[in-house]
Amino acid sequence: MIPFLDLKSVNAALRAELLEACARVIDSGWYIAGNELAAFEQEFAAYCATTHCIGVANGLDALTLTLRAWQEIGRLKDGDEVIVPANTYIATLLAITENHLTPVLVEPDASSFNLCPAAVAAAVTPRTKAIIPVHLYGRLADMPALLELADEHRLLILEDAAQGHGASLHGRKAGNWGDAAGFSFYPGKNLGALGDAGAITTSNDELAETLRALRNYGSHEKYRNLYQGVNSRLDEIQAAMLRVKLKYLDQQTAQRRKIAHCYLDNIKHTAISLPTWGHEEQHVWHLFVVLSKHRDRLQHQLTQAGIQTLIHYPIAPHQQSAYPEFNHLQLPITERLHAEVLSLPMGPSMTLEHAHIVAEAINNAAL
Ligand SMILES: *Cc1c(COP(=O)(O)O)cnc(C)c1O
Repeated sequence: MIPFLDLKSVNAALRAELLEACARVIDSGWYIAGNELAAFEQEFAAYCATTHCIGVANGLDALTLTLRAWQEIGRLKDGDEVIVPANTYIATLLAITENHLTPVLVEPDASSFNLCPAAVAAAVTPRTKAIIPVHLYGRLADMPALLELADEHRLLILEDAAQGHGASLHGRKAGNWGDAAGFSFYPGKNLGALGDAGAITTSNDELAETLRALRNYGSHEKYRNLYQGVNSRLDEIQAAMLRVKLKYLDQQTAQRRKIAHCYLDNIKHTAISLPTWGHEEQHVWHLFVVLSKHRDRLQHQLTQAGIQTLIHYPIAPHQQSAYPEFNHLQLPITERLHAEVLSLPMGPSMTLEHAHIVAEAINNAAL
């Protein structure tokens, strides 16, 4: 069987270092908000070339707390409109609605899967206050165009970088373009912990300070509470795991690129569209997503051939039961993508030999 992502082998390759880091935390006697977190925050901020990194419990909290912090600072208020790609993972929307902000769903560009700047421009109203571009599947959104729009209309940009660790354009990485960015370190993400974890990167001092308080009961100083905050902390064990894994991120991304290029060079089936990838450094291939009008048949045949694939995502956020207020929306590009996308096996421990087998199985599919 060729698994979709073999996390066990990804982490087994770093086993000795992970165990050593784990032992260091156990022996330190300090398990929350200690040296490992401070060091990881510094190392990840350096990686993204931002002034700050604030560790939190998960990626959803990273997005939710950033929007909340902008409310505390007076940059956003209830009912403000936030533009978001309609084909994102539902977490992006949850962060908006949790804060009583209004999501404005726009159609993505069908070839990059990312926010389409022209569609964003058309969706801006006087109530629009922020844009959340999502670097979907690991491809950096069109940040130069979105920055220009944000500048023109005085909008905040929060990058949803949960799938984009290390994606860059002209040397500028995901997490460095927006006013802030939310990262997830869920185990299956390109930089994954061995449990839940997330972080915000920003170069804005006021936002960073507010976030540091919000994640810790709203406390900026022990036993004094400035905000009605939450408990959303990245613990020492996970921070220690992430410090080990960050060292190997670029090397792992390089392997993902090799797999992606093997697929791009070898998949020739006329009924399947391959993803576009832009500039070489722009894509970190969190997922390798093909499109087919016969997606379900293709998935079935690959399963028969012992190849595991997944669908990201089978149901669009606006069609979810959680959002009855959006169920009436007609978003044909988004709906078509949800019906046609299929994610092929991809990961840093995958071999080129397996990628060739997958490509051949696809070329032989009877669609
Ligand atoms: C994974 C993911 C999130 C949420 O991250 P968690 O750590 O699972 O909370 C948010 N947005 C996108 C695009 C994601 O892929």
